[in-house]
Amino acid sequence: MFTAKERTETEKTLEKFPLSITPYYLSLINREDYKNDPLFLQSFPSPKEIEMEKHDMVDPLAEDKDSPTPFMTHRYPDRVLLHVSNTCSMYCRHCTRKRKVGDTDSIPNKAALLKAFDYIRAHKEIRDVLLSGGDPLMLPDEYIDWILTEIRSIPHVEIIRVGTRMPVVLPFRITKELVAILKKHHPLYVNTHFNHPREITVSASKALAMLANAGIPLGNQTVLLAGVNDCPRIIKKLCYKLTQNRVRPYYLYQCDLSEGLSHFRTPVGKGIEIIENLIGHISGLAVPTYVIDAPGGGGKIPVMPNYLVTWSTNKVVLRNFEGVITTYQEPASYEAKFCERNCAECNLQLNLEGSSEMASIGIGKLLSDVDKAIVLVPENNRRIARRK
Ligand SMILES: *Cc1c(COP(=O)(O)O)cnc(C)c1O
Repeated sequence: MFTAKERTETEKTLEKFPLSITPYYLSLINREDYKNDPLFLQSFPSPKEIEMEKHDMVDPLAEDKDSPTPFMTHRYPDRVLLHVSNTCSMYCRHCTRKRKVGDTDSIPNKAALLKAFDYIRAHKEIRDVLLSGGDPLMLPDEYIDWILTEIRSIPHVEIIRVGTRMPVVLPFRITKELVAILKKHHPLYVNTHFNHPREITVSASKALAMLANAGIPLGNQTVLLAGVNDCPRIIKKLCYKLTQNRVRPYYLYQCDLSEGLSHFRTPVGKGIEIIENLIGHISGLAVPTYVIDAPGGGGKIPVMPNYLVTWSTNKVVLRNFEGVITTYQEPASYEAKFCERNCAECNLQLNLEGSSEMASIGIGKLLSDVDKAIVLVPENNRRIARRK
């Protein structure tokens, strides 16, 4: 199949980024035209992986910097990401954590995980724990059960999420036994990673049905990849097939700036074009949120086509998915509630207990009536420094 040159190039790529493909996933590749096959492109190394570009980064999302304890990323106020495994049944060529793939020094042992659980226990603001990796379902059933039991024993953890590509690359991993373990720890969500409608096979559908029948809400995260799924019709078909399988399309990711991914990147305009072709055209339930994970650790930033055309003090002008331009008449009178955070007196009151909800964070500070901030200025701003 390969020329001598192709062989040498592939071997060179493998020295930097290892290869693993499940026989199942391999069997789905179209042998007639494998070089353009979207499944081949996701699983088989390309020599382009070792062509670095100027803006490529080892850890673009600064996951290692936002790590208060090993194997954890704590980026958002109320949730943490735990890297409980560092291996996968298949090494996706577009992996954002390519830097870690196959690194045997970074397998978390029980002691390391216990430290991470201590961190969660000590931080009452953490309501949501995401298990990621690698693929958490690479771990043995009993170990998964132990991890989930430990996390569930922390009273302030409300939900647990598992991110896994097993339903895509090894659906047979979703066994009755595994599902019985997962459903003991509700509310538990599973997010998976289908990128192309052809990945939703009979076996994948079966695995998804087993999870859904166990009451596990299912979501999907797709990465936008050049040559694989950078087409509105493909993404639309994928979203239809996902919802038919009770999987809610959750995120469509712009490809990260990790090293070795340059050949997979599309312009942001491609993602916006895709979303333009989804919103209004298909069930809202089937439309994912298109996000760019900000380099440097800023987190996921949603990006959308513009629907707000213009507005005045009493009217908003909007356009819909068909190009119809319409108006929304604002209410003639609206009694603004100047919020003093006096929740006990408020007729909208929720009886919110706890004071952590009181502080405004980020841009929300600028909208808050109680926060004195009128401007957010980046640290080390030279203009402000000159004022002193
Ligand atoms: C994506 C991500 C999460 C979860 O984000 P949601 O928008 O809540 O799904 C949490 N932590 C980190 C570090 C992440 O990258």
